[in-house]
Amino acid sequence: MLDVLIVAPHPDDAELGMGGAILRFREEGLKVGVVDLTSGEPTPYGSLETRARETAEATAILGLDLRENLGLPNRSLEPTLEARRLLAGVYRRTRPKWIFCPYWVDAHPDHLAAVELAEAARFWAKLSKSDLPGEPHHPQRVFHYYCVHLRLVVPPAFVLDISPYWDRKRAAIECYRSQFTAGREGETPSFIDRLRDQAATWGLSIGTAYGEPFFSREPLGLRGWNDVV
Ligand SMILES: [Zn+2]
Repeated sequence: MLDVLIVAPHPDDAELGMGGAILRFREEGLKVGVVDLTSGEPTPYGSLETRARETAEATAILGLDLRENLGLPNRSLEPTLEARRLLAGVYRRTRPKWIFCPYWVDAHPDHLAAVELAEAARFWAKLSKSDLPGEPHHPQRVFHYYCVHLRLVVPPAFVLDISPYWDRKRAAIECYRSQFTAGREGETPSFIDRLRDQAATWGLSIGTAYGEPFFSREPLGLRGWNDVV
């Protein structure tokens, strides 16, 4: 049983988009899982073995309760009925309250397919009289994290303060050496420093050191003001 399930097109997207949120959720005692839809391979400096090892290292830093890979095709991910069935089965088995998936505008077709799959699987997961495994389950909400291959500046639904978690988020991302270090020697600013600057900009927008933006198609509900920064 999970509180939060993050749907990621590729291993590393969950870390990039919401590594800080994951660490915060875990510290608050929530159960958090990540389902990577594809292996992320091929890439210029990666291999299946390398990516699996890097993902395991990052998973340990984040302290995830569950991490799975659906083994769908990288670079040609499609929101097929079979893929929807697989993901709806994960929802019914892990029963999360909240689903997180990528932002719905992106240049990367895998990310767009992941959004469609994550939302369609939520609908299917609640169906009765179906041949899906497990019992019907309807996650309460879908949120979208920011891991986008476009220079978009979109006002988020909210920004989460991740100031105490930035160093560990950075360490989790740095596990993916084949993606963010190999072949980038001498890049200034480095990819990771760019990410830090971005996290600092989101933090600045809410008056904290570091932040992560989140998006929602539906309005957010609040029960009180205690957590507003
Ligand atoms: Zn990705």
